[in-house]
Parts: sequence; C-alpha cells; structure tokens
Amino acid sequence: MAGDTRLVLLGPPGSGKGTQAEILAQRMGVPAISTGDMLREAVAEGSDLGRQVESIMSSGALVDDDTMAEVVRERLGRQDAAKGFILDGYPRTLPQAETLESILQRSGAELDAVVLVDVPEEELISRAVARGRSDDSADVIRERLRVYREKTRPLVEHYQERRLLREVDGYASIEEVNRRILDAVA
Ligand code: ADP
Repeated sequence: MAGDTRLVLLGPPGSGKGTQAEILAQRMGVPAISTGDMLREAVAEGSDLGRQVESIMSSGALVDDDTMAEVVRERLGRQDAAKGFILDGYPRTLPQAETLESILQRSGAELDAVVLVDVPEEELISRAVARGRSDDSADVIRERLRVYREKTRPLVEHYQERRLLREVDGYASIEEVNRRILDAVA
C-alpha cells in the first residue's frame, strides 16, 4: 500500500536508536517495535519467555534466533503492523535478517531502508554508564559491544549489498540525528 513505511534501525547499544524509533513512529503513524522492550516486559511479567531470557539478557548475550523469530513473527502479524513499522533491535544477526525477509515476503511486503545509527565506542560507554540500567554494568556493556561487533555489525554489509543501507552519524543531538535520518530515508 502506498505510504507504508517499513524501516529497520541498526546500531550499537546506546546509539539512541530506540529514541529515534519512537520519534519516527509518531511521525509516520506506524508502531515502533523494540525487541529489547518486548523482552524486558516479558521479564517484568515473569512469563515463560521472560524466565527463559532473563539471565541471557543480563549477561549481555543475545537471545537465540529461534526464540526471537517467534517473538517477531507474532508481533509483525498483529494488525497495527500491517501498514508498516519501525523496527528497533531486530534483526541483530544474519539469520535474523533472513527470518525477517521471509516474514515480510509472505505478506508481499519489503523493507524501505535500514538506517545505521553510528556512534563512536567511547561515547557509547559513557552514555551507558550515565543511563544506569541494570543490564548496563561496565562488564555487560563491554560484552554487548563485543557481541554487536561480532554478530550484528555484519548486517551492515548484508544491507549494503541489497542497497537498503543508509548511514547516519548518531553523534549529535536527538533533534539533529532525527533530521539526518529523515534526510537519509527521504
Ligand atoms: P540496546 O537498545 O541497549 O542495544 P535492547 O534493548 O535492544 O538493547 O536489547 C537488550 C537485550 O535484549 C539484548 O542485549 C539481548 O540480550 C536481547 N535482545 C533484544 N533484541 C534481540 C534480538 N533481536 N536478538 C537477540 N537478543 C535480543
């Protein structure tokens, strides 16, 4: 359908992509879907999923691809996502990118763009320390950055090859980064 928006925000932990996802979602009238928020809610509720992922999340590791596929398939299948979405935190691995592709294919949809919000690592560490969330202790931050470099960063090339990647320098104010993203996807 014309006017649909399907974006993925890609970036290291603390890059501000969650904040940007919310702003873009408001503006474009589609839901912001954060797999990190969904998992944290599951943990808070103490659901089966929450109990399954709690210790994995607090170690800085990734939840396994099969579990994430189930979570995302269910979420994208809901009515509010039919007209589009801003995905934040998924995909995080190459197999997840393939899962997303096949979910979208089945409904005849495709991504408009994948926006890489890039921020220098020193800045990410100081932001994370300031944020002080429970999964943000110094060791866990380092582990999450390591996992990002190893598992998630390869998605940059993957989406470059598909001509979907738009790179945005995320080392600026929230408003400025938002402007850069809007320019990049226009
Ligand atoms: P941030 O935005 O700070 O990078 P998130 O809130 O997106 O982090 O995710 C927090 C944690 O939730 C991750 O460290 C990971 O354990 C889990 N998680 C979220 N999304 C995924 C995913 N797509 N695949 C695997 N694990 C995930």
